[in-house]
Amino acid sequence: MQFRDLGKQYQTLKADIDQAMLSVASEAHYIMGPQVKELERELAEYVGVKHCITCANGTDALTLALKAWGIGPGDAVFVPDFTFFSSAEVVALEGATPVFVDVDADTFNINAASLEKAIKETLAEGSLTPKVVVTVDLYGLPANYPAVKEVAKQYGLLILEDGAQGFGGSINGQKACSFGDISTTSFFPAKPLGCYGDGGAVFTDNDEWAALLESYRVHGKGTDKYDNVRIGMNSRLDTLQAAILQVKLHAFDDEVERVNQVADTYTRLLAGHVKTPVIPKGFRSSWAQYTIQLPTEAARNGLQAALKAAGIPSMVYYPKTMHEQTAFQNADVKRPASRQGYDQYVATRLCRTVLSLPMHPYLETSDIEAICATLIANI
Ligand SMILES: *Cc1c(COP(=O)(O)O)cnc(C)c1O
Repeated sequence: MQFRDLGKQYQTLKADIDQAMLSVASEAHYIMGPQVKELERELAEYVGVKHCITCANGTDALTLALKAWGIGPGDAVFVPDFTFFSSAEVVALEGATPVFVDVDADTFNINAASLEKAIKETLAEGSLTPKVVVTVDLYGLPANYPAVKEVAKQYGLLILEDGAQGFGGSINGQKACSFGDISTTSFFPAKPLGCYGDGGAVFTDNDEWAALLESYRVHGKGTDKYDNVRIGMNSRLDTLQAAILQVKLHAFDDEVERVNQVADTYTRLLAGHVKTPVIPKGFRSSWAQYTIQLPTEAARNGLQAALKAAGIPSMVYYPKTMHEQTAFQNADVKRPASRQGYDQYVATRLCRTVLSLPMHPYLETSDIEAICATLIANI
């Protein structure tokens, strides 16, 4: 059994994907071929925003957004303490200061009350200017945008939606990657919409930012390709990846439906045995991960070992909070205030108790039943 069976997905879409890849090979527009622009149009339409700018990966997508906004030294960027490293790495790379914010125990996403508290503390301390909040749509579930937007508005923060795991999710029908002032996603193979290598995209309704993003993506180009008007990056999406993504985007709604059925089956079979993911009313997840919570670290590690012995892969996303990362120990970051004890601080507790189970659109019901039976017998 595989944790995320990408081979099965390829077999399902093989004829169209092979055709798309061969077309790119024979047409020979390997960089910025017509498929890139077509895909950008299709992605913008899918998400419901005006502009999509594809790029080399989801980390660059975040960096491009921070560059377009001119974020740098002296700026505070609020980041959930429980996420993949990129969400905070890009902030430090631009010379700004990540300020870590606790998350919600039910949804794993940034907690709006903790965000407001962190902003107030930053303002009181006085050395940094609050500028941006990075909202991560963790495990496929959109962050609590109704609550976060209120706080962001009150304190004049821009919202950068890190939708690397969230593409395909929605709130009351509004799609993920449309919630930020700028939103980003990743097409890393294991993400909800993955390509066959690295890829990413940035989304915005703002014309001025879109023009800046396009410039930063290609060496800070001006109107003439060889007139470089700012220091930029080389962060294009390959034509080959764009062609693969076009095929996969057409199958994507069906896949989101399938992962939601897989999640429903898990939740039904595990109810009453273990804490299963909570999807707030009106929210829809694209299920980048299906993540349960065990009562203790020992229970979590014991279960993972028992699953492994039965040939069932599982993963700990993530074993360390951002503020515990080695790279941030001597870096310019704001740690959670020490008065937030171990028991009250959700992010630390989650690192010790979460476990993600096999999840992909082509997971068979018989496999889900076998996973749940083994799980229930070992908790
Ligand atoms: C995967 C991921 C990224 C980075 O995407 P890459 O394409 O691997 O650079 C950023 N943020 C989150 C939350 C992710 O899961």
